[in-house]
Amino acid sequence: MEERMVKFYAKESSNIALHAVAGHFSTSHSHINYYIDVTTIKTRVNEAKEVGKLLAQKTYNHMDYIDTVVCMDGTELIGGFMADQYEQMHVESRNQHDTIYVVSPEINGNGQILFRDNTKSMIQGKHVVLLLDTTTTGETIRRCIECIRYYGGTVGPVASIFSTIQEVEGHQVQSLFQADDLPNYQAYTQHDCPYCAKGIRLEAMVNGFGYSLL
Ligand SMILES: [Zn+2]
Repeated sequence: MEERMVKFYAKESSNIALHAVAGHFSTSHSHINYYIDVTTIKTRVNEAKEVGKLLAQKTYNHMDYIDTVVCMDGTELIGGFMADQYEQMHVESRNQHDTIYVVSPEINGNGQILFRDNTKSMIQGKHVVLLLDTTTTGETIRRCIECIRYYGGTVGPVASIFSTIQEVEGHQVQSLFQADDLPNYQAYTQHDCPYCAKGIRLEAMVNGFGYSLL
């Protein structure tokens, strides 16, 4: 996989590149013709910092104040820089300690998204920005929104490094990379995937942690 990776640069910054491999891959909710790798963006401090800054600038004016950034898919480093950028831009938070929380939920064996008693207070009654790495169907966003609402939080904008959709249930999805950044990017449901229909084998299962070859 690594040697087939091709770099695509963000429109807004030539320092930010996602890596992608063309093929036939499965996510938890779809089949896609590119494996998109945002590992370096999530793990290199200089890239995460720039992405955090850009995503903060794209989302700060969608809510009158921001208390918490909820990070999915190992995006905590970016979330930290986003929160820092919000504070530098003097985005208001209503938190008692006058700073923004950056928190990740637990995902249990059944795939349920949950917050424990020590982090619940960072969601309940808070204005929350949701951060993910890649978004194709929006199904993960829908489940996260449901979870945050369950714990009493108000979800505002959603930020994603890569996203093929602009909106989920009225929440704008702001991203640095969109489908048109990858030539002929396609996502299908399992049932209408033309690669499966042609009997082409799936190469790998992909999720926020990376890929597993099949
Ligand atoms: Zn398929």
